[in-house]
Amino acid sequence: MTDFVVIGGGIAGVSAAAHLAPHGSVILLEMESTLAYHTTGRSAALFVINYGTQGSRPLGLASRAFLENPPEGSTDAPLLTHRGLLWIGDETQMMELSRIAREGQDSGAGSRLIPSDEVLGLVPVLNSDRIAGGLFEPYARDIDVAALQQAFVRIARSHDAEIRTRSHVTAIDRRGSGWIVKAGDDTLECGAIVNASGAWGDRVAALADIEPIGLQPMRRTAFMVPGTQDYAHWPMVVDADQRFYFKPDGVQLLCSLAEEEPSEPTDAKPRMEDVALAIELINETTTLGIKSVNSQWTGLRTFSPDRDLVIGEEPTAPGFFWLVGQGGTGIQTSPAYGSLLASHVLGTEIPELLVEAGVEPSTTDPGRFRD
Ligand SMILES: Cc1cc2nc3c(=O)[nH]c(=O)nc-3n(C[C@H](O)[C@H](O)[C@H](O)COP(=O)(O)OP(=O)(O)OC[C@H]3O[C@@H](n4cnc5c(N)ncnc54)[C@H](O)[C@@H]3O)c2cc1C
Repeated sequence: MTDFVVIGGGIAGVSAAAHLAPHGSVILLEMESTLAYHTTGRSAALFVINYGTQGSRPLGLASRAFLENPPEGSTDAPLLTHRGLLWIGDETQMMELSRIAREGQDSGAGSRLIPSDEVLGLVPVLNSDRIAGGLFEPYARDIDVAALQQAFVRIARSHDAEIRTRSHVTAIDRRGSGWIVKAGDDTLECGAIVNASGAWGDRVAALADIEPIGLQPMRRTAFMVPGTQDYAHWPMVVDADQRFYFKPDGVQLLCSLAEEEPSEPTDAKPRMEDVALAIELINETTTLGIKSVNSQWTGLRTFSPDRDLVIGEEPTAPGFFWLVGQGGTGIQTSPAYGSLLASHVLGTEIPELLVEAGVEPSTTDPGRFRD
């Protein structure tokens, strides 16, 4: 009998495992042959306070301490490095820039509206006739996602958690006050289940006869184009209406159309027309003259009906816990939501660090989608 079975080996699943393993036996089940194969391995890897929903913003704030000072022995590399974020706009987008600035005012993001000459000083390849101003967020940082994922794995394993890949969960049944979980040839009996299966969240719940939340996976495509070391100090540049973004990544530029298009849960693949449209928009706005693409991928950002995270016990099925709906902020909020999830599973107080950051559990409670 295992105390906790976690379904899904993306960042959500490994964070849950790391936070639960000190308190009981944990087995994590991942259907692919490697962890982080789906959305977690396909992100833009940015930490930015002034972004996201009512529920995700405090979780981002509360995650900063872990990301800046990860637990001893959990990582050999810093998890955060300086980047900065620059929202840009033309004359028609100034209202939107002001709105984003207002949202960030009380967040500690340190964001400030800047005139066009300062924007062009930060990123000289921007076309001056397309830029009326910008909003600069100096504290935005790059996250080393692989190191963060590995940090959670190390913590979980140091408390004897077991991680099984190629373990596709295909059946979940009630047994007394606990559960029976079938994955491949394995049958596991456990006290509680954590559903951290990302885009497949509603499908995994259906295996346990639980009503769907209404999760919607949304496609987002990113690609790498050739760059130079000279770009390395640029901030990430995002169009005020989120029609595209780009940021330096080593000697390449990571670019995206920033699209949101509904999808089934699947191994999403990029479409040529999305990459071409992003290149067109970036080339119109800059002198980069992008002509070729080194690599491309598409990930699924999964949203609940109110676009906030879903963290906590399913009211209709005691012992079944949701950890889904992270949308576009599932990397930067992962330390805090793992901690919040563990307090729900263990029935303990919400940690002080989360309360101080303004985390309000009702905002992410699955009960809000039930009568
Ligand atoms: C282009 C792009 C840019 C992004 N940029 C950022 C960013 O800058 N900052 C940020 O914080 N976030 C960003 N995100 C969002 C972030 O990547 C996600 O919120 C996060 O990765 C979600 O993690 P997850 O563990 O829930 O999902 P996943 O990584 O998809 O993990 C779910 C896992 O569950 C497994 N699974 C599903 N069903 C089963 C089953 N039946 N049995 C066993 N295993 C199962 C899947 O194989 C998968 O590995 C971005 C996303 C995209 C696509």
